[in-house]
Amino acid sequence: MNILSVNAGSSSLKFTLIELPSRNVLASGLFEKIGMTDSMYTIKFNGEKITKTTNLYDHSVAVSKLIEELLENNIVDSLEEIEGVGHRILHGGSEFTKSLILNEDILQRISKYNELGPLHNPANIMGVKAFMKVLPNVLNVGVFDTTFHQTMAEEEYLYPVPYEWYTKYGIRKYGFHGTSHRFIYKTISEYFKRDDLKVISCHIGNGGSLCAINGGKVVDTTMGFTPLAGIMMGTRSGDIDPSIIPFVMKKTGKTAEEIVNDLNKKSGLLGISGISSDSRDVENASKEGNERAILAQNMYAQKIANFIAMYNNLLDGADVITLTAGVGENSSVMRKLICERIKSLGVLIDEERNNCRGEFKLISSDNSKIPVYVVPTNEELMIALDTMELIS
Ligand code: AMP
Repeated sequence: MNILSVNAGSSSLKFTLIELPSRNVLASGLFEKIGMTDSMYTIKFNGEKITKTTNLYDHSVAVSKLIEELLENNIVDSLEEIEGVGHRILHGGSEFTKSLILNEDILQRISKYNELGPLHNPANIMGVKAFMKVLPNVLNVGVFDTTFHQTMAEEEYLYPVPYEWYTKYGIRKYGFHGTSHRFIYKTISEYFKRDDLKVISCHIGNGGSLCAINGGKVVDTTMGFTPLAGIMMGTRSGDIDPSIIPFVMKKTGKTAEEIVNDLNKKSGLLGISGISSDSRDVENASKEGNERAILAQNMYAQKIANFIAMYNNLLDGADVITLTAGVGENSSVMRKLICERIKSLGVLIDEERNNCRGEFKLISSDNSKIPVYVVPTNEELMIALDTMELIS
């Protein structure tokens, strides 16, 4: 069975065509600058790569082009070979607790949460509608970033603010990266052949979040009402004192939206280092002795370590710590800095094992009290697996 796994942005559409159950990737690619005159796309298949510049007026045109390329390049012989399309959807509020088959009525219900994910949700819905138009006989499945976290208890997801903010406006912790954390939990629990594992899953990429999982249920996660909360990230601040916002507004004359934009786009590794949001650039500068780069790296590692320690307490002792995403999978430097800061939990990193990139691997020593694994994430595959299960 071939499933298309799709992540639609406001002007982009990323796809992976996956054959299941073999998990073989038949093709993947990205359509960019949709709606602009210089749109382009790249498709990779069979060791080949095609890049074209064309005018993609809207997402439907991009989807038609994608189908055309899949057929022309014999990636599929007919449209019948695409049996389902799984879509990443950012926000399902408290309402959607599982992935599900999409129809017009459900899309309407999802759009209620557009104000909670204004940059992503309308675009995700636009992507679904484009596939419904171009491939009307194929089922579409929605896989939400928020659903995995819906098992959190009230005492974890509520903020200590006036209760009516929650009942009237839906102010609560929703959590994000749920598809990645769920994939990591599935992978590590299959590896250990246990369904009662207590896992601290650290998704550390440009965005980042940690998730405390007990037997498949989320106990807590670091992102909150929006993906701005929690650990320090590439350009996002993570948790800060909210009183900073009106104070800086007065000092700078900026609006609340402008300050929140600064917290989303000019903070984190970029804000502190003044160099880059990319951890590779920060690592290189810190090797050369740049003090702000060293400071940024240390702060970044410390925030993550603090949450790991907190989640170890919340789980009453974790069985395993996992690291994933761009930084977690690739940066031995950052992994070492984090692990050195959780020695009080009995975690001991093995430097030789830690010298790895992008592979499933134990990186702690045999006498580490909690084993630490690098587990590459694969949200596209998780979306495809959910889609297969629902349409079968
Ligand atoms: P993601 O958002 O998961 O794509 O992760 C992006 C982040 O991963 C960026 O900060 C990259 O610098 C970081 N990253 C990717 N490869 C490496 C690497 N080899 N060493 C350090 N950081 C890396």
